[in-house]
Amino acid sequence: MTQRIPVIENIMGANERLAAVNRSRLDAAGVFSINLMASPGAGKTSLIEHTIRGLMGKLRLAVVDGDIATSIDADRAAAAGATAVQINTGGECHLDAVMLQGALAQLDLNQVDLLLVENVGNLVCPAAFQLGTHQSILIASIPEGDDKPYKYPGMYRGVDALVINKIDLLPYIDFDMDYFRRGVEALNPGLITFPLSCRSGEGVEAWLEWLLAQTAV
Ligand code: MG
Ligand code: ZN
Repeated sequence: MTQRIPVIENIMGANERLAAVNRSRLDAAGVFSINLMASPGAGKTSLIEHTIRGLMGKLRLAVVDGDIATSIDADRAAAAGATAVQINTGGECHLDAVMLQGALAQLDLNQVDLLLVENVGNLVCPAAFQLGTHQSILIASIPEGDDKPYKYPGMYRGVDALVINKIDLLPYIDFDMDYFRRGVEALNPGLITFPLSCRSGEGVEAWLEWLLAQTAV
């Protein structure tokens, strides 16, 4: 009856140990890294493109793209000017530390200042699997609705910053920003947020400035 729990704990323990190994490798090479999580279509890849273009000449960027299939996102990151590695998870709905380890092996980390890891689009399990990255960022978007912090609390609880994308759509969608923010505040008090639009570019500068400040630490 109770066999299941120890097995799951062992898997998570192994993942956390490997995440710590990944972190050591990143630290040794002086790489600052972030794990970008969001539901499908929230704008992870679009934000990555803005980030690559916005920080070009200031930082050397690399992108690791996790997807169930295709290399569309890594191709977009490469086209924007970053070194990009695609991880196809073969059906898995999240990245784990083993997958990131494999991706890190394909990068010359000494040539990288900032590593952006795009997780698989999913608001449930990515939050449970540490990768070894320094910070976790969640991207929410206006069309997803204002109730998402209430429905997916695990995702909002553990993150270091929240991007609220597609604010250009606010006039067209019933999205109660106060209700949304109350939900966020209850789960993650004082969480820094970046309302922005990857489409119009509004608000992107504040995100870039914050990211630059993080990497300088
Ligand atoms: Mg994407
Ligand atoms: Zn999963």
